[in-house]
Amino acid sequence: MLLARFCGVVGSSRGYVLVLDAVARQLVPSVAIGYDNVDQPTARTLDDGNDPFVVALLGMQVVACAHGLPRSGISRRTRLIAVPFPQPRTVDAPRFIDRADADRRLASPCSVAAVDSSRTWLERPDGIALSPYGVFVLEMDSLPVALDRIACAAQLAGPMLSRLAASDAHRGRAAELADQRAVLTSIVNSLPDPIVIIDGDRQIVVQNQRAEHLLSMRERDSEGRRRAVEINNLLLTSHLSKDPAPSGTNVAAEARELNMVDPDDGTDLLFEVLTQPLDENDNAIVSVLRDVTDLRRAANELELQVQRVRLAEYEAKRESDRLNLILTNVADPILVTDDRANIILMNRQAELLFGSATPNIGYATGDRSAAVRANDTKFTTFISDFSLSPESARREDMELQRPGDDPMTIPMEVVAGKIVDRRGEPLAIVSVLHDLTEQAENERLYKELKNFSSELEARVRAATADLGEQNVRLQWQSRELEKANRLKSEFLASMSHELRTPINALIGYTALMLDRIYGDLNDRQEEGLVRIRAAAQHLLALINDILDLAKIEAGRMPLHIEDTVLQEVMREASVQIDPLIKKKGLTYRWIGPDEPLHMMTDRTKVKQIMLNLLSNAVKFTHSGTVTLLAQQEGDLVRLDVADSGIGIRKEDLSAIWDDFRQVDQSRTREFGGTGLGLSITRKLSGALGGRVTLSSEYGRGSTFTIFLPIRSEAHREHDA
Ligand code: ADP
Repeated sequence: MLLARFCGVVGSSRGYVLVLDAVARQLVPSVAIGYDNVDQPTARTLDDGNDPFVVALLGMQVVACAHGLPRSGISRRTRLIAVPFPQPRTVDAPRFIDRADADRRLASPCSVAAVDSSRTWLERPDGIALSPYGVFVLEMDSLPVALDRIACAAQLAGPMLSRLAASDAHRGRAAELADQRAVLTSIVNSLPDPIVIIDGDRQIVVQNQRAEHLLSMRERDSEGRRRAVEINNLLLTSHLSKDPAPSGTNVAAEARELNMVDPDDGTDLLFEVLTQPLDENDNAIVSVLRDVTDLRRAANELELQVQRVRLAEYEAKRESDRLNLILTNVADPILVTDDRANIILMNRQAELLFGSATPNIGYATGDRSAAVRANDTKFTTFISDFSLSPESARREDMELQRPGDDPMTIPMEVVAGKIVDRRGEPLAIVSVLHDLTEQAENERLYKELKNFSSELEARVRAATADLGEQNVRLQWQSRELEKANRLKSEFLASMSHELRTPINALIGYTALMLDRIYGDLNDRQEEGLVRIRAAAQHLLALINDILDLAKIEAGRMPLHIEDTVLQEVMREASVQIDPLIKKKGLTYRWIGPDEPLHMMTDRTKVKQIMLNLLSNAVKFTHSGTVTLLAQQEGDLVRLDVADSGIGIRKEDLSAIWDDFRQVDQSRTREFGGTGLGLSITRKLSGALGGRVTLSSEYGRGSTFTIFLPIRSEAHREHDA
């Protein structure tokens, strides 16, 4: 506006303003009137000390030029004046030059114009320090009369202009800032990460939309959402207070993790919080919450995948190690070939047969390679055949050469299988060769063994037939024997009456004679009769025993099983044996169970067993005691007949059970007896389902023990 006024005053249609750019050390065109695009004025450098516009500025003198200057935008035909104007002093202002210096610097066509007020600005009453600011460049035909006023106005207007310019610039910056802020806000809002700025009191000052979503509640929000937002605020506050943002320091932003809740669906969210102090003097901090939920999930998933891959690698390695181990340790040769029968892989055993160069084997090379070639030809033929065939596995017997000093043929079994790709095309063929030498040898041995065994079988069969015959003979003999025995027993049993009658008559008549029924007897007659009676009684006892035995053996001694109280039988036997005990002056005891012990057994036979054993005990005991002891052992009754008598020698222990057996025949006279008592005893207890045992010490005494079942029912049937 001022420029237009100046132009009006000087009657010019064109003019412009150059303003100092102290930093660039330039005078830069700022406002212009009447210039088209072609003829623009350009900037002028301060370093050109002789430039009329620079001189006008630094000297604060109105400079007039008789015609235009280069780069001034003003043509040579036209005059121009440069009117300087100051500004309040600035720090980086160039220094003023004095009038003389200005005059010196200017040359034709320019000179300092004679203006009265040229220096008045230096004597301003308010004494404000000033510095150069700019130059009005006005184009005209002749020097105007009002130059004085223009210069004066320019000097006065300078500081104002500078302030105006400053305020303009300020306004421009404010608008720019507003624009930038709008752009920034939209950028920040469009970010998917929540961003909050928090002041020193931990209050949220600024937040973007995403942060608002997590941390602010609106009136229409549901209860659940409100709670989630509250929780999020708590979490964020506690997170920030745990590690107060570094204030007044320039510490780099620090990332830490923070869990939050999505207020919409309640899912867990994981954020990485980057906090940064906003500026050095303020306690405010800006926090960027980077959503790493998916990232973390992906990272975890990735980690899992990596682990799986590692595991798979490890497994694969182990598998291949195992395979190698098998290959190297298997005793059979193994070869892997491609479909054209080229060997890809083979183990050591296979190398012995097919390896062309195995230096450490030490065979004569010539023989060796011939054998290997022969093997190779056979094997290649087999593989080629097999690879062309549609079958997936093949087995074939093959005779291969064992290379060496003493080459020999080995019978081998080749088992080959195809390894195919996904389309079923063969990739490789695995062949396992099995040495059949041992098998052939085994087969030979087996055949021999079989022959031998069948021979043996024939012999055994013959021997068995022989044995069978003998057996039949023996059976026949045994049957015959049995028959004879039975006949003997039957004979004896039937003879009992015939035998006993005359003896009883003998005893009876002897007794009558001894009773003097047939008249007096002298001493010799009496003695003879006593002897006859003793002999007859012995004979009767003998016959009774023989008959008992015979009856048992002939099965003619039936059992009468009845309820029997053991103690009663013991008492009866004891009463019966008592006279003999007394006669020999022995001590006798019988001990039974406290409670009456009921047995289902043949009472008479139990008593006979007791009497047999007791009478033996008394018979073979000269002094001391005889004991009868009975006790229950499970479902058996144990009877012990113990004496302190003469005892039995070890060597006689088994013989005493035989019929008619007496240990010392010479002593028969002393003890009497028939040698049948024990035999009968054993047979009787056997018939009752029991058994007899004996323990004896020669010279000290004997104990005979009988075990009888409490219930002898089973044997009743047998004997019935
Ligand atoms: P005997 O009628 O002679 O007693 P036994 O068959 O009863 O016939 O006994 C056979 C033999 O066993 C007896 O002659 C005797 O030598 C021996 N003997 C049996 N019981 C006893 C015993 N308690 N002490 C010693 N020897 C015995």
